[in-house]
Amino acid sequence: MEDCIFCKIINGEIPCVKVYETEKVLAFDDINPMAPVHVVIIPKEHIPTLMDVTQGKTDVLDAIFLAAQEVARIKGIDKRGFRTIVNCNKEGGQLIFHLHMHVLGGKKLRDVLN
Ligand code: AMP
Ligand code: ZN
Repeated sequence: MEDCIFCKIINGEIPCVKVYETEKVLAFDDINPMAPVHVVIIPKEHIPTLMDVTQGKTDVLDAIFLAAQEVARIKGIDKRGFRTIVNCNKEGGQLIFHLHMHVLGGKKLRDVLN
């Protein structure tokens, strides 16, 4: 989709530090890391928010969660633990309207979610 930063990363128009890739998803280091490990996982298909995932098209969620497992293994935090976050819409803190999951870890994360 035009003017979508994450679509531009998928197309190679904007560079990224790739962590993991499959046919369906791409994972790369967040440009503004909030933890020692901060990876963003995006579907290659442009889906604006979690609310746009519909019944019968949830395979993208499987792909994202399985990629989170693999990212955790690659980054060496699978056993130590990590957090996954999907921000949705304005009050959820979503800034880029291309569905993505944050994978955070590498330190003891604070309990608060806000
Ligand atoms: P969100 O607030 O959930 O929409 O998160 C968007 C995330 O994308 C933020 O953590 C940004 O730091 C990250 N981000 C924005 N542009 C880039 C980029 N070009 N490469 C990597 N991460 C990015
Ligand atoms: Zn997009």
